Amino acid sequence: MKQLILVINAGSSSIKFSLFEQGEPDPVLLYKGQVEGIYVEPYFTAKSADGDKLAAENLPADGPKSHDQALRHILKWLENHTAGRKLAVIGHRVVHGGRRFSRPELVTHEIISELEALVPLAPLHAPHNITPIRILAELLPGVPQVVCFDTAFHANQPEINQLYALPYDFSQREGIRRYGFHGLSYEYIAAVLPEIDARAAAGRTVVAHLGNGASMAALSACHGVASTMGFTALEGLPMGTRTGSIDAGVVLHLMNHLHMDAKGIEDLLYKKSGLLGLSGISSDMRELHASDDPRAKLAVDYFVSKIAREAASLAVTLQGIDALVFTAGIGENDDIVRRDVCRQLGWLGVELDESLNAQRSGQPRLISTPQSQVAVYVVPTNEELMIARHSLGCVDETASQYAATPTPA
Ligand code: AMP
Repeated sequence: MKQLILVINAGSSSIKFSLFEQGEPDPVLLYKGQVEGIYVEPYFTAKSADGDKLAAENLPADGPKSHDQALRHILKWLENHTAGRKLAVIGHRVVHGGRRFSRPELVTHEIISELEALVPLAPLHAPHNITPIRILAELLPGVPQVVCFDTAFHANQPEINQLYALPYDFSQREGIRRYGFHGLSYEYIAAVLPEIDARAAAGRTVVAHLGNGASMAALSACHGVASTMGFTALEGLPMGTRTGSIDAGVVLHLMNHLHMDAKGIEDLLYKKSGLLGLSGISSDMRELHASDDPRAKLAVDYFVSKIAREAASLAVTLQGIDALVFTAGIGENDDIVRRDVCRQLGWLGVELDESLNAQRSGQPRLISTPQSQVAVYVVPTNEELMIARHSLGCVDETASQYAATPTPA
C-alpha cells in the first residue's frame, strides 16, 4: 500500500495540514486544510486536492490545550478519510534553522532541544513550530517526524551576502547574520525552473515570493546567493503587516524618546505596519485594489517600488538577470502588481506582454514578450510538496543507513 505523508505548517493561531500519498515521481496531494483562530474561535476546514470543500466547522475553544485539540481533530478527520491507513512520516515547516540546520532532519529528543535553543532567533514563530512536534510525538509515537527549514536554502550564500557590518567577532559569536527565509518556496521554484527555462536555470534568476509575507531571492544556477530577508523575517520588502527594512535608528528613537517597550515595538513593526499600516485599511492586497482611498494606492505603490528596487539590487548581485519569477498569493494572482513592477524594470530590458499577464491559470507560464531581455514567469509555489519530498527522503535515507549498518557479531 502507498505510504501517507502528513505535512504540518503551524503558526501562532493556525495549523495548516496537507496529506500526500507516495507517488511517482512525486507525492500526490490527497487533502489539505487547517484549523485557524486557535485560542479564539477555532475553525476547521478541509478540501480535496481539487479544491472541493469537505469540512467547515467550529471547534470548542479550550485555552492552553488548543494546539493539542486542533491536532487531535485533524488526525481524527484524516483517520476517517483514509480508512485508518497509517502515516509513514510527518513533515514540519520550521521557520529558523540558525547556523545549525542547513538540511531537513529526522526529529529526535536532541533535535527538539536544539530547536528550542534557536527560539530566540524567531521568538514569534519558532515556539509554534515546535509545539506540534512535541504533541505528535506523544499522540503518534511510532511515526517519524522530519523538520524542514525555511532558512536552509540560503545557507550557502556567499559570506558577503550573509553579513551585517557589525563588529565581525561579535556577530559571529552571537549568530547575528542574514539567514533569509521562504527557502522552501525558493527551493521549489529552483526545482521546477529547469523544465520552464533551461537558460535561466543555468543562469541568473530573481524570484519574488509575494504573499502576506514577502521576500525576494537571487538564484545563480538555481542556488540561492542573496535574499532580501535577513536575521529575521522582518527585513526587506514591506509585507501585509510588517515594515520590511527600516532604519535601526527608528527603533532606538521609539525606545529612547517615545519610551516604547520591546513588546510595543514588536507589535508595531510586525503587526501594525506594512500594507495595513500605510493604507490604514487592510493587509489584504485584494481589498487595497478594491478601495478608492488614496492611501490604499499609496500602500500598493510603496510595495511595488520596493519590489522593483530590490529586483535591481539583486540583479547587481547576479551581474545581470535572465529571468524574473513571480510566486505566492500576490505574485501568482495579482496582474496589477506584476504589471507595475515590470514597468519600473523596463530599463533593465523587462517587457511584459500585458494580455498574457492578465490571463489566469494555475500553471507556470511566461508573461513577457518574445523581445523582452528578461523572461518573466508566474510560477505557483508548492512549499508543502517540498516538505513531503524531504520528509520521505529523510525517512528512506535513514532506513537505508540502518540497512547498510553491519549487525554486530
Ligand atoms: P499568501 O500569503 O501567499 O497566501 O498570499 C496572501 C496575499 O495574496 C494577500 O495579500 C492576498 O490579498 C493576496 N492575493 C490572493 N489572491 C489575490 C488576487 N486574486 N489578487 C490580488 N492579491 C491576491
